[in-house]
Amino acid sequence: MDLVLEYCDEYVFDAAYAYLFPAPITFSNTTTLSSPSPSSSSSSPLPTSSYARDAIPRQLASLFIIALSAALALYFLFCTLSYYFVYDRRLEHHPKFLPRQKRQEIISSLIAAPVIDVMTLPWFLGEVRGHSKLYNRVGEYGWAYFAFSAVWFLVFTDFLIYWIHRLEHHKLVYKHVHKPHHKWIVPTPYAALAFHPLDGYLQSLPYHIFVYLFPMHRLLYLGMFGFVQFWTILIHDGDMISGHLLERFINSPAHHTLHHLYFTCNYGQYFTWADKTFDSHRDPMPELDPIHESLKAMRAKGLLGKKTD
Ligand SMILES: [Zn+2]
Ligand SMILES: [Zn+2]
Repeated sequence: MDLVLEYCDEYVFDAAYAYLFPAPITFSNTTTLSSPSPSSSSSSPLPTSSYARDAIPRQLASLFIIALSAALALYFLFCTLSYYFVYDRRLEHHPKFLPRQKRQEIISSLIAAPVIDVMTLPWFLGEVRGHSKLYNRVGEYGWAYFAFSAVWFLVFTDFLIYWIHRLEHHKLVYKHVHKPHHKWIVPTPYAALAFHPLDGYLQSLPYHIFVYLFPMHRLLYLGMFGFVQFWTILIHDGDMISGHLLERFINSPAHHTLHHLYFTCNYGQYFTWADKTFDSHRDPMPELDPIHESLKAMRAKGLLGKKTD
């Protein structure tokens, strides 16, 4: 995040803060203005802000804007691509698909995203103020560690998210925190951020904790963040491909489709090993595909063979 903040400061925020919160004009004892004057424009310094780059209130505000813009840009980009090119829109005829569900999912995501962003600020602030183990040069730990840290990031966060998610299904917690995400029994990709804000925050915690425990290259961390959002959208695309070799190891969209349909299976995020080890795995069999119910409903409405949208 500090890398992005550095670029944004350079190209956007320095000018924006100087305009919104200009540094006070001071007078020297020779009564000349120390701030820039029109007559000395060629040699005068650029206008500055009373909030320097390392001022905590400025960093918090900047981080909030950057994180929210990036999250929403990726959300709308990946969700829209997934919805129009991957998601089978016949699923919208499923008996458990809610009226105007896609709209509800988007509204829920738009409400959750800024709240999650605010809760996450202390972690981002710690990163930009140098309290995490993020590093700059690959040479510091070498390429082998660089590759290992990417895999370890996925394994570590997958394990923690598995348990956070599973505990969220405990009856004392479920209805307060996780139930809003299960409103979507047959989700569309737009359900990817449609959480109770506390739920979204809790499930994102492992990603933030990771870089405070283990060294990770800054650019790799940035890439992994984009990947995490891409993956969260991907597993909500309702694709029920089953029988693929990778499905034995990877928590596919088919696994997460079953999680939304049956609630108490497939809590994992990237891999199936935790579900298999802790006895919550359910194989995505072709007969469990919700498309069958959708096609039945479409047949009953006389829609099959016609344009479905
Ligand atoms: Zn989900
Ligand atoms: Zn769940």
